[in-house]
Amino acid sequence: MEKKVKAIVIKSSDYKEKDKHIVLFSLEEGKIFATLRGVKSPNAKLKFAKELFLFGEFVLAGETVTSCEVIDTFYDIVKDVDRYYEGANILTALNIVVGEEPNAQLFLETLKCLKSLAYENLPRGYVLSKFLISIFGSLGYRLSLQRCASCAGDFAIKRFFNFNTGEIVCLNCSSYDCVEISKLAYATMRHLAETPYEKLSTLKLNARGLDEALGLLLKNFEFRFSKSLSVI
Ligand SMILES: [Zn+2]
Repeated sequence: MEKKVKAIVIKSSDYKEKDKHIVLFSLEEGKIFATLRGVKSPNAKLKFAKELFLFGEFVLAGETVTSCEVIDTFYDIVKDVDRYYEGANILTALNIVVGEEPNAQLFLETLKCLKSLAYENLPRGYVLSKFLISIFGSLGYRLSLQRCASCAGDFAIKRFFNFNTGEIVCLNCSSYDCVEISKLAYATMRHLAETPYEKLSTLKLNARGLDEALGLLLKNFEFRFSKSLSVI
């Protein structure tokens, strides 16, 4: 039986002599493992469908892709080495967190995120950092950036990351193994969380604050999902 899904290619690997295995993040069913047959020959009709980041409407018969209508290739991501590494981290993160059930919120976030990465010419790290904040939100680990996640009080002067719970807490609620979040890194995370993807280009983030924030977000990702991403 055939099915049609809107999906993004998040992983692509060789299979047998001429085939490719791809992993799709679909709107309708979450993660789907699929095969592209004969696509390594230069004239193959579906050879474009093995490319990472491709967003299209895929028709599948069982596990085999029988047709694909491209919606966007996001090819500009692949053309630039910095963008490519940032994008590759985003796809790796998706491959880790997406399960075989739909998550429309995360799917739409992913499309916005890839669009910004491809077309907005943003400084390195903006899109990946914002995307990590969104991932926590759409998987039930929303970061509490306004108030202490534990007592709901104001942060006052200091705030801390509790990696065991994935929460941001105040001084009173912090324990010895929490990591203090600098003012700069905290401001950076708030700006990123509050600014929609299409307005990211209006942000002027401090480079050190961004580095620190990204480091904390990557560490939180590792604690939540037990797998690490490579630092860009
Ligand atoms: Zn507190």
